[in-house]
Amino acid sequence: MSMEDSYGRAIRYLRVSVTDRCNLRCDYCRPAGEPLLPTHQELLTLEEIARLGRLFVDLGIDRLRLTGGEPLLRRNLIWLVRELAALPSLRELSLTTNALLLDRCATELKQAGLARVNISLDTLDPATFARITRGGELSRVLAGIEAAVGAGLKPVKINMVVMREVNDHEIPAMIDFAVQHGLVLRFIETMPVGRAGLGSAHRFVSADEIVARACHGEEKGLIPVANPREGGAGPARYFRIAGSAAEVGIISARSRHFCDTCNRMRLTSRGELVLCLGGMDQVDLKTPMRDGASDAELCEMIRQAVRNKPRQHHFQVGAEEASSLWDMSGLGG
Ligand code: SAM
Repeated sequence: MSMEDSYGRAIRYLRVSVTDRCNLRCDYCRPAGEPLLPTHQELLTLEEIARLGRLFVDLGIDRLRLTGGEPLLRRNLIWLVRELAALPSLRELSLTTNALLLDRCATELKQAGLARVNISLDTLDPATFARITRGGELSRVLAGIEAAVGAGLKPVKINMVVMREVNDHEIPAMIDFAVQHGLVLRFIETMPVGRAGLGSAHRFVSADEIVARACHGEEKGLIPVANPREGGAGPARYFRIAGSAAEVGIISARSRHFCDTCNRMRLTSRGELVLCLGGMDQVDLKTPMRDGASDAELCEMIRQAVRNKPRQHHFQVGAEEASSLWDMSGLGG
């Protein structure tokens, strides 16, 4: 069974934000100053997330990703991983993390049933890392990457948000780093999501420019790979690095949107189901759940929400028209 929206897209992928808190303050993700965090009462409990996760999987979701904020900050996350990973119809449970805390728990996560991790890393230069993240320590991320590889969380994917005059000169060095360590690198265009995302729109580098800049010297071009990865419905286009078996992906939400094949939705840490990253539509699942809604009633709300999934986002129309209601950290980027 799977859920279909009114444009015939099968919705099979859910990203779940388990917290809005983060131990980094990336300037394109979080606005400066103290973030407005949900109170303890506003946050879904782990039991509530596990219940909703089970219902989503019953409805046909077969890939779940835990994200945030920084998911490794959520206490007892391992319990949630174990609960979700045990759902028989779930094909894959994965996690997006900044890896600061990963060296302590990579093996435990793997043993609990986590299949793989995506790690955010925008630069290999400690000073640039500290600047982007407003004080983060690069060495801890590198230790986290090593731990993920060592724990067998395969493949380890690295997400690099490419920003003009910040890290765009590091594209070739990041490719070399990924090849050397057996990582799958994905370049990401900045998205005008939230106040911080809107603020970084002027640093936008398009996918086409990223491809052009990936070629340093004769031998290092990117050759498009014919078969899309991730079941054909993932947002990344993949390229093989000339002279190597390694591949890199490019996620171009703005310059070449992939809404026609969008198979995903998001659950915020407050229990709102968000149908499109670039839209305002959301459905509150927490209140009815706390008011005693049955599994069948919650499933009907989810089905109805899926039917209302918007056809496409509007990032490409202009940054000022994009969502500024959400910050990526609250949405579960
Ligand atoms: N804390 C985790 C991490 O660092 O990976 C998970 C949450 S973070 C919001 C998820 C991803 O969203 C990161 O890879 C980050 O680079 C990306 N992201 C945040 N704001 C973005 C923006 N404005 N444009 C593109 N990607 C963004």
